[in-house]
Amino acid sequence: MIFIQIPPDEDDPELDADFPLGDGTADMDAAVTCPYCGEEMEIALDPGSGPRQEYVEDCQVCCRPWTVHVAYGPDGAADVTLDAADDAWDD
Ligand SMILES: [Zn+2]
Repeated sequence: MIFIQIPPDEDDPELDADFPLGDGTADMDAAVTCPYCGEEMEIALDPGSGPRQEYVEDCQVCCRPWTVHVAYGPDGAADVTLDAADDAWDD
């Protein structure tokens, strides 16, 4: 997986204009690997929330919190990366 860090305050108006909202081509889910337990799973995406998203979601397996980064390309393909949201998690 290629990790691309996108500053949350950086906004690309051209990407916004080209984002294929509502035409059915944007990815609706993504395969991810939990940074804690290493399980691979699919998570649902919400293209309607915009071409660049960052939110916290709990792992479906170990319930630990991820920070999910979603970046849609102009073709509607989603680049999804996970960070461990709680670095201080004590097992
Ligand atoms: Zn997990």
